[in-house]
Amino acid sequence: MTTWIGTSWKMNKTLAEARAFVDGLVAARDALGGVRAFVIPPHTAIAAVRERLPSDVPVLVGAQNAHWEPAGAYTGEVSMGMVADAGATLVEIGHSERREYFGETDDTVARKVAAAAAAGLTPLLCVGEPAEVRAAGGEIDWIAGQVSRGLSRLAAHDLRKVVVAYEPVWAIGDLGREASPHEIAPVMEMLSTRFGPGGDARHKISAVLYGGSVNRFNAAALLDVPGTDGLFVGRAAWDVAGFVELVRIGA
Ligand code: PEP
Repeated sequence: MTTWIGTSWKMNKTLAEARAFVDGLVAARDALGGVRAFVIPPHTAIAAVRERLPSDVPVLVGAQNAHWEPAGAYTGEVSMGMVADAGATLVEIGHSERREYFGETDDTVARKVAAAAAAGLTPLLCVGEPAEVRAAGGEIDWIAGQVSRGLSRLAAHDLRKVVVAYEPVWAIGDLGREASPHEIAPVMEMLSTRFGPGGDARHKISAVLYGGSVNRFNAAALLDVPGTDGLFVGRAAWDVAGFVELVRIGA
């Protein structure tokens, strides 16, 4: 299977910075075909990134969030159809920052996963356990529960559209620490066998990614963890050279 390498820019990058990133991707176009690459800009830059990317540069564009309702009086929200209209083909759902700061629950996550798939988007369902759950040894049950609930509103024939990213909360961002391959292996194995491409056909999703303090030094070892179909990266890929380096490692 082709390895997925993707980044979310979170609340970063102006339009000019987004376009400069795309120009860097175009300059490195020969490297990109070796993986399934994706970039998730803030909403303001989705269309600009999509329009600047030549159609023969194989990079998917995503959105960091969208509402489950197709339209209506939801000030400040955008729908799945709107992000698709802007050029997104995948949508990130349930990132731990959205769960922590913006009130995302397993119920809103499940609604969004179903709405994304119904709109023809790839739902990128993010799951991860907090530090205290890991300290108590509860990560397998926590993650299995988050994924099951996240998929609970999905039509069975849409399961194969889903990508899951396992991102332990304690490994994300500036305050996080790197996870070792040893620490993530049991979770990746559970996700892969229970939900992933290698698992039971009734629960087949398309890929299982790992994310959380991934960088050019740890990427190869994390990709080697059985059941890992790719990497979802924050800080280390916000600079286009860093992103392309990770793409080369994944290829
Ligand atoms: C993330 O927030 O999803 C993430 C993986 O961030 P970082 O790589 O910066 O830890």
